[in-house]
Amino acid sequence: MVEWGVGVKKRCSKCGEEKELGKFYEAKDHKDGHQGVCKKCFILRAIIWRKVNKQKHKEYVKIWRNNNFEKYKKSNNQYLIRWRKNNRKKWIAYCRKWKTNNPLKILEQKRRVVDSLAGSYIKHLLKMNGFEINQITPQMIQLKREQVMFSRVLRQLKRAVNESN
Ligand SMILES: [Zn+2]
Repeated sequence: MVEWGVGVKKRCSKCGEEKELGKFYEAKDHKDGHQGVCKKCFILRAIIWRKVNKQKHKEYVKIWRNNNFEKYKKSNNQYLIRWRKNNRKKWIAYCRKWKTNNPLKILEQKRRVVDSLAGSYIKHLLKMNGFEINQITPQMIQLKREQVMFSRVLRQLKRAVNESN
């Protein structure tokens, strides 16, 4: 295999100038690992192509962005999940640190869970009522949720009555 270091030159098939290999973009499918046209000619060609094919270019960019965003999101998620699995202690420490540094955000999060009567909050209430986690059924959660909603409405009513007195 030929070692292509500094000082190795190549002739551009477009402008015909002899330039250092670093002035050519890499291309794995080419014999010397670089494109046949120099960077300058390649960019010029791309600019001209874009001008002539404005609409097409816009579509290409859109498609590319969509495809790569999905890919990026997916691989990033998988990476995160794997990382958390392999670095459980670090992850737990990180969460703990985040919680101590963001007490307001935690409060806000809790309030949101309470306000929306999320399943986890209802389960928590049922546990406070003395139920074991494996005794709790979806029907119980629904009942409890309705009960909480009802008592919230009652409280609001009482407050409204008190204020009008
Ligand atoms: Zn050139």
